[in-house]
Amino acid sequence: MIEQQAAPAGGISSDPVRYLQFEHLLQFPNLVHAIFTRHGGCSQPPCAGLNVSAKEDSSPEAVATNRLLALQALGLESWPCATVWQIHSAEVALLEGDRWEDWLADWPYRALQVAGRELVWTPRPRRKADAILTAERSVLLAMSFADCLPLLFYDPRRQVIALAHAGWRGTARGIALTTVEALQQHFGCQPTDLQVGIGPGIGVCCYAVDEPVRDLFYGRSEFAELPVRPDLRNLVAESAVFSLVPASQEALTASDELQLHLDLWETNRRQLLLAGVRAEHIAIAGLCTACHQEDFFSYRAERGRTGRFPVLLALRPDGA
Ligand SMILES: [Zn+2]
Repeated sequence: MIEQQAAPAGGISSDPVRYLQFEHLLQFPNLVHAIFTRHGGCSQPPCAGLNVSAKEDSSPEAVATNRLLALQALGLESWPCATVWQIHSAEVALLEGDRWEDWLADWPYRALQVAGRELVWTPRPRRKADAILTAERSVLLAMSFADCLPLLFYDPRRQVIALAHAGWRGTARGIALTTVEALQQHFGCQPTDLQVGIGPGIGVCCYAVDEPVRDLFYGRSEFAELPVRPDLRNLVAESAVFSLVPASQEALTASDELQLHLDLWETNRRQLLLAGVRAEHIAIAGLCTACHQEDFFSYRAERGRTGRFPVLLALRPDGA
């Protein structure tokens, strides 16, 4: 991955905004993509840095400022941005023609002054989904993360993008599979044309899970809500990668208990392969958010009291 650094934002933070880009996606001049770290931004602990989620942040002004900083880092603060209410599902949402609630100002019933601009939080309910697909240009797709995997899709032939959110629940429901399927159905994409980046997220090193999680992947039990689509169950089971890791990695003894860990990166990579994406078109960031709390927010490592970093994806206007 290539690290980029924005010019320091005067008076807001001495730590500049930093974001990562996939090398294989940088070869496409029509594509805009950025996976932000927590560096820069003005949120205070426990969300210190570039937090874009209101969940654990006591300052909505800081969240709004951080969103603006992320857009400014790309020089795209005038573009509309679409987002969704991420619910750990395999639901996809199609952005076509109609304007969506703007990520920059999608919080109900508030008006804020940020950097001299008035932002009005709209009371419109957000769409619930975990992937956004579009062929619209000059619209940013935005999602937020802290351990769950960002999946960035680009079809250079059809000029279509998709951004997905894959935590363990979404992965167990097959979000990578449903995203590729929707790209085929709605835009006629060929999976072999797709270029995909699997962003930073919790690694197998840090992702201890319990037995019921494995049961859900293997179809031995079912979610109480949003059940796995019956025709995806075999593929999800086939994709699942778990490993047994000694509970204490420093001092391995014969009596050491083995812990079940989920490999979210590899499981999602396998779903992409099963969906027909070429191995050479998939890049994995290979950065564990729980191992790198100085760079990323980590829900697991920070015990739920943390922020979310943004991922932005867009197509530039024609001919730009
Ligand atoms: Zn780790």
